Amino acid sequence: MGLFSSKPEMKKGDMVYAWTNDQDIAKKAECGGAVTTLLKYALENKMVDAVLVIKRGQDIYDAVPTLVTDPKDLKDTAGSLHCGTVLLANVVKKRFNGAKTMKIGMTVKGCDLMALQELAKRKEVNLDNLLLIGVNCGGTVSPIMARYMITEKYGVNPDSVHKEEIDKGQFIIEYEGGHKGISIDELEEEGFGRRTNCRRCLYKVPRQADLACGNWGVIGEKAGKATFVEVCSDKGADLLSKAVKGGALATEAPIPKGIEIRGKVEGAMLKLGEKWRKKDFARLGKDPWTMINKETSRCIKCYSCIENCPVCFPVAESLKKSYMIEPGQVPPNPMFHLRRFAHISDSCVNCGQCEELCAMDIPLALFSHAIRAESDVSFEPKLGKPAYSN
Ligand code: FAD
Ligand code: SF4
Ligand code: SF4
Repeated sequence: MGLFSSKPEMKKGDMVYAWTNDQDIAKKAECGGAVTTLLKYALENKMVDAVLVIKRGQDIYDAVPTLVTDPKDLKDTAGSLHCGTVLLANVVKKRFNGAKTMKIGMTVKGCDLMALQELAKRKEVNLDNLLLIGVNCGGTVSPIMARYMITEKYGVNPDSVHKEEIDKGQFIIEYEGGHKGISIDELEEEGFGRRTNCRRCLYKVPRQADLACGNWGVIGEKAGKATFVEVCSDKGADLLSKAVKGGALATEAPIPKGIEIRGKVEGAMLKLGEKWRKKDFARLGKDPWTMINKETSRCIKCYSCIENCPVCFPVAESLKKSYMIEPGQVPPNPMFHLRRFAHISDSCVNCGQCEELCAMDIPLALFSHAIRAESDVSFEPKLGKPAYSN
């Protein structure tokens, strides 16, 4: 690990506080605008042909995947949307030919990154054509839950909320006439809060991206005004060095105490994720099939879970024609779900798309994730007993 202060060349392992020199980006950005500025620099300097990001649509619950080709338009895409649950990896595959014919710079959360890797294994995405700016991720709230939670728990009309943020463990809203924050622990104890797959997620700092960016560890004068950037690849080092040299971005060495805090918060989040895994997997009990059977008896065989899964999608057509699954039968016989579980058992990335998009609110991510967690133990015995066995 190296710390960077004023030397222009950066390398893998370096860490900096970074912020934009572009006032338009600074106004909209979450924490200083480094992410948007890096993407803008890459687009302006033809390191990529286009940039794929999430942009606010009609309101804070409307996260819209957006392809930008004019660098001037990037300022409108700055800011974090915690009620946005889109998997950008799927957008690359479905809408942009897996980046096989164009170079794309994009913002990725841990689940986007894992999904891109699974898609690349299946030759659906060309990772060489992607420039990946990772954002640390504490989790997202589904838009439906967000509206319900703001109505019931905050006592606020969700349509009057114009800003949301997650800060110091609280989900904070600003609305016409005030603002209110409630701790995420309290929200989740009462059944509100982040998606259940996010609670169980153990990928908080996306170090397989080219750069990993987040607000954890930014303390002192720059708190809230800069992003902590960890350089994770040569490509990331090159982009960051050039953006600084080109005057787009300002940086300074991180405060050592900030680095320590960042490590501690990441560790605490991983522990919390393990706690949720234990708690959620315990719901399956000693006879998981009973719960799976009961829940999937609501299935209307719409195929949404399969078509939106970054791992399972190749079986959609074969399932439609399978001799094991009678056409027109609803709910489908257990082979429908068994085939799916078998297919993703060692590859589920816990992105939660199956559950998020299920027409019948079946807790599919819980089932797939528990199966994956158990496979991990089979391949890697030192992980210990499956998380739900005690
Ligand atoms: P900006 O210049 O404002 O750019 C933000 C980028 O994020 C834009 O490209 C935008 O399109 C993209 N984006 C917005 N919403 C989403 C979304 N839902 N999915 C994917 N991309 C999106 N940092 C931490 O240190 N700890 C955390 O717990 C943490 N949780 C986060 C949770 C979410 C859902 C998101 C999106 C970010 C989170 N971050 C977290 C990162 C942090 O909020 C900032 O994004 C980061 O510090 C960069 O700030 P910036 O001003 O440089 O980004
Ligand atoms: Fe973030 Fe993990 Fe949830 Fe993806 S699954 S949105 S990386 S917490
Ligand atoms: Fe069945 Fe839900 Fe999958 Fe649709 S998304 S096929 S209802 S389990």
